[in-house]
Amino acid sequence: MTAKDYRKALKQLKNKPASLKKFLKFNKPKKRKFGKNLKKCTRCGRRGGHISKYGLHVCRQCFKEIAPKLGFKKYGHEV
Ligand SMILES: [Zn+2]
Repeated sequence: MTAKDYRKALKQLKNKPASLKKFLKFNKPKKRKFGKNLKKCTRCGRRGGHISKYGLHVCRQCFKEIAPKLGFKKYGHEV
């Protein structure tokens, strides 16, 4: 189950307090202090290829798209 599905389930269980309690007890995703699942792209939510350097916190694909806007230049492109 993904994080998005988890929130959806909570919305559905709002009207059923007993079921909600049970759901939270057994099916709630574990809160993580470390690990790759903690690092998520702030732009698209992807978990792979994370760049946290300079406080970016985006994946490599998003970085490629937004890099020129941020002021990054491709090194050695111009001679
Ligand atoms: Zn991304």
